[in-house]
Amino acid sequence: MPTSNLGKFIRGFERFRQDYFRGNTELFDKLRHGQDPDALVISCCDSRADPAIITNCAPGDLFVARDVANLVPPYEPDGGHHGVSASVEYAVLCLGVEHIVVLGHSQCGGIGALVDGGVHGAGGGFIGRW
Ligand SMILES: [Zn+2]
Repeated sequence: MPTSNLGKFIRGFERFRQDYFRGNTELFDKLRHGQDPDALVISCCDSRADPAIITNCAPGDLFVARDVANLVPPYEPDGGHHGVSASVEYAVLCLGVEHIVVLGHSQCGGIGALVDGGVHGAGGGFIGRW
């Protein structure tokens, strides 16, 4: 990533703090005491598909788990590190969310690779198995 993008992110964070954060003090004061989201959204990591932007939600509205191709792996109580399973468990048992939404999107590279039979150009052991 070019360093100019990092500058963009830092300036964006500064604008967020000065404008959005300071302009929504009531919301952020409430969120300091905890979260009570209405839904768990399992969405893709794709940079073009941000669940909060797509649904016009505010901080605190959604509990979001993101992975490549918004997949929900099978239940495997084997002691491994299962991020999506942990997210579902936490959202349901600890936060009491009312809805679970699996949010797909068009032009998903992960689903495209699944349909085409593999990830091209990625030789790692993680994405291929995923
Ligand atoms: Zn995707």
